[in-house]
Amino acid sequence: MHVDMDAFYASVELVSRPRLRGRPVIVAPTHGRGVVVAATYEARAFGVHAAMPTAQARRLCPSAVVIEPHREAYARVSAGVMAMLADVTPVIEQVSIDEAFLDLTGALARLGPARQIGEAIRQSVRERFSITCSVGLGRSKSVAKIASEQAKPNGLVEVPDQDTVAFLRPLAVSALSGLGPKTAATLAELGVVSIGDLADSPDAAIIRAIGQAAGEHLLALARGQDEAPVVPDRAEKSIGAEETFAADLPWGEDLRREILRMADKAAHRLRRAEMLCWTVSLKLRTADFKTFTRTRRLAGPTDQTKAINAVAQELAGELQLAGRRARLVGVRLEGLVKRSGQPLQPTFDQAPGEDAGVDRVADQVRRRFGDGSLTAGTLISWRTRLRGPAGESML
Ligand SMILES: [Mg+2]
Repeated sequence: MHVDMDAFYASVELVSRPRLRGRPVIVAPTHGRGVVVAATYEARAFGVHAAMPTAQARRLCPSAVVIEPHREAYARVSAGVMAMLADVTPVIEQVSIDEAFLDLTGALARLGPARQIGEAIRQSVRERFSITCSVGLGRSKSVAKIASEQAKPNGLVEVPDQDTVAFLRPLAVSALSGLGPKTAATLAELGVVSIGDLADSPDAAIIRAIGQAAGEHLLALARGQDEAPVVPDRAEKSIGAEETFAADLPWGEDLRREILRMADKAAHRLRRAEMLCWTVSLKLRTADFKTFTRTRRLAGPTDQTKAINAVAQELAGELQLAGRRARLVGVRLEGLVKRSGQPLQPTFDQAPGEDAGVDRVADQVRRRFGDGSLTAGTLISWRTRLRGPAGESML
């Protein structure tokens, strides 16, 4: 679910100025040469939009009332709305002051069908905050976001799972998030105008035109494939994986392999969340229930399994637990930053190295065949590669 407040700043201003409802209202600094920060739909009808110079907006719509922004009020209402949404599910990702993604997977059993939850949210926002919002429902974040855009203002659009591709196909490619005007122009030269055109295009032609990373990403979105999870960025400041063993493991190769398995799992989750980490933590619990953790900050952020594993293995070495047995191992990634801007990780373009390639293929296989599909093979191949010429482990 994507929830987006309608003309948020302007709507908040109207709460304390009900007599202005139904009139064109512009929120903008009233002194100096500022730009519009928000406009009601009545003002938008005159061509006014955010980021337009205020003077130009006044010319386009002389009858508009211009209100000075009150940012504390927006932050207050935003916090209230987000807290209310967090009651629906803890799996909520706030993407700006007035919009959020919610993963309803867990909430459906408790609260009923998605549409019902969406209407309940819309009603609560209206009653408690005297503003309206729009709701988009779909099988992925990208579809939900496009749906909420279509629902505006003050509506709800649900795209049933099986209708996803049919819903996307007639839309202009620019509806896909991450597809800017420059890419749209490049695609138009190939005769690719709608999302359907893009979905039907040969992969090679698209990748040649806009690059491998962006090409693969946008082709997948156009075909209704978007596995990006909702990342609860306020509650969840870290991504990790840990496991308690059925039988305690002695220090050595088997434990090293478990660390690699956890590093790989955590890194995969990190990439799925489209994040990079600055910090790697290793947690080890020994058979006598003592827990040890070690943390290291990296020289630069990464999402690559090999780099994360290398640090985790070093941290394990520093713990000097030789001779003891381990009952739990965990790898946690912190200092998370969005891999934003680029639709795919910059390392693909900057240094198309083997590691990014291995990770990318591994992630693709998992997307198609499930989380467990590649783990064993990945580990076997790495163990082989990481063995030195004399057969000694280089892990
Ligand atoms: Mg909005």
